[in-house]
Amino acid sequence: MQIRVLGAYGGSTPRHRQTSFLIDGTVALDAGALTSSLELEEQAKVRAILVTHSHMDHVNSLPFLVENVFGQVEGPIEVIAPPEVVASLKAHLFNNDLWPDFTRIPNHLLPIVSFRTVTPGEPFGVNGLTAVAVPVSHVVPTYGYLISDRKASVVFSGDTGPTDAIWRRAAQEKNLAAIFVECSFPDALQQIADVSKHLTPKTLAREMEKFPPKVPINVYHMKPPNAAAIAAELRALAAPRLRLLDDGDALSY
Ligand SMILES: [Zn+2]
Ligand SMILES: [Zn+2]
Repeated sequence: MQIRVLGAYGGSTPRHRQTSFLIDGTVALDAGALTSSLELEEQAKVRAILVTHSHMDHVNSLPFLVENVFGQVEGPIEVIAPPEVVASLKAHLFNNDLWPDFTRIPNHLLPIVSFRTVTPGEPFGVNGLTAVAVPVSHVVPTYGYLISDRKASVVFSGDTGPTDAIWRRAAQEKNLAAIFVECSFPDALQQIADVSKHLTPKTLAREMEKFPPKVPINVYHMKPPNAAAIAAELRALAAPRLRLLDDGDALSY
């Protein structure tokens, strides 16, 4: 499994792109930076986008991706998520107000984008991969994903505070090759992290006790103004399996 980190952050500056990963060139996880990181021909290869939740730093490039690949792809791009997330994207983004409803363009029989609603906890296939959505703990309905090919599985936390179900599920995966987990704020902003349901290095260290041992941990979704402080605090944890992700990183499992 080849994973490109298109956007490693939970915010945007010219040097920090918002959360997006690309798996095997065709399946995206979140859409914070698909159009700012991929060339047009790479964008046209994206066949499906798994969405963790409706927040802007995870979906804002969706409208522009859909527009860019219009007329260049066969069959609709699938936007995949559990029901509440799909409902939110339909109601608030592709609503003919913020952006056209591309599920009816050019017409409802041959749309450029289609939503696929998945049931949490139930595995589904997506472009040769198997995935499952597991609810996590954030201020809007949010899901982490376990994604597997024949060789390896990886888990993405989504935006979350301390949580359990997804780590229990990850611990059952026999080929778990990597954990991707958010860490949004430094310890000094613990209160903000708690009310906005995110992790700090301190609460991440506690979450790590739920992780299967030895599996590499890739940290993402740092808020740009806090990225340096988070990096220093994670280094102080002296956990060799922790890696802070950056835009453009490429991982292979
Ligand atoms: Zn976020
Ligand atoms: Zn969020």
